[in-house]
Amino acid sequence: MTDNQFPMAGVLGTSVAHSRSPTLHRHWLKRHAVAGDYVPLNVSDAHLREVLQTLPKMGFVGANVTIPHKLTALKIADFASDRATLIGAANMLTFRADGSIYADNTDGYGFMANLRSGAPDFDPTAGPAAVLGAGGAARAILSALIEVGVREIWLANRTRPKAEALKAEFGSRIHVVDWVQAGNMMEDAALVVNTTALGMTGQAEFRVPLDGLRPGTVVNDLVYTPLETPLLSHARTAGCVTVDGLGMLLHQAVPCFERWFGPRPEVDDDLRAAVLA
Ligand code: NAP
Repeated sequence: MTDNQFPMAGVLGTSVAHSRSPTLHRHWLKRHAVAGDYVPLNVSDAHLREVLQTLPKMGFVGANVTIPHKLTALKIADFASDRATLIGAANMLTFRADGSIYADNTDGYGFMANLRSGAPDFDPTAGPAAVLGAGGAARAILSALIEVGVREIWLANRTRPKAEALKAEFGSRIHVVDWVQAGNMMEDAALVVNTTALGMTGQAEFRVPLDGLRPGTVVNDLVYTPLETPLLSHARTAGCVTVDGLGMLLHQAVPCFERWFGPRPEVDDDLRAAVLA
């Protein structure tokens, strides 16, 4: 915790005007009576380094970084946690009193905490996981699944070489599947995770065939606008255990808030309601 009398934090990206992070951090600031603030900051790639050097001089104790700065932020940071290095991206920066920048990644933590909350009976050893997508978010999900002991991960991405690159990095537990076969890999999966932007409001439709989904399979969509995506809606009808993507956003923020502002906050119904309002 900082001795700064009015600690500031924010989210840095190129399209953060409608980010829900300010609402959630402000909810906790109020709940824990911390005098501080959390703001959205639109920053271009060209200005990221300069902005990160300036923010601590303005009372900022840390920042979240989102699309497209997660990889660059890790490179700019002076120090990084093992998990940020492993994932190859940072979503959280802390500005230290000595002027250095520490990078961490709490996306994998947020993903697992959300899964444990939404599907308490999920057993990582129950069977293979099927993961759709090989972008920045997929890196955190693969890392988290390997860490909790999932033995086999089937991975499909529209651009297959990106999935192959993740297999080369994350190892032999990953099996790459052609994008056109993505529906088939769900048949034997204990867990299905969509890490693509498909199904998100304003993005392309989710068209992967879902006939292979079995009752009891845990299905998680990282997309949370809409909250019940077409994938989750179909999975619910098929008898799957569905977990929405909003919880990941809420849970990944817990260690950020604690590191910057002090108290460890709760993810509860009040927070969900505040963020959805
Ligand atoms: P990213 O690095 O840009 O990756 C985007 C992924 O979506 C890639 O795998 C891409 O495939 C795929 N994709 C995009 N359009 C597609 C299409 N028309 N058909 C098939 N695949 C398509 O983005 P990201 O950071 O990984 O984020 C991905 C999604 O996760 C976003 O919707 C983001 O909002 C969400 N997310 C949610 C949370 C949360 O807290 N719930 C956290 C992080 C991210 P190609 O490689 O072929 O382009």
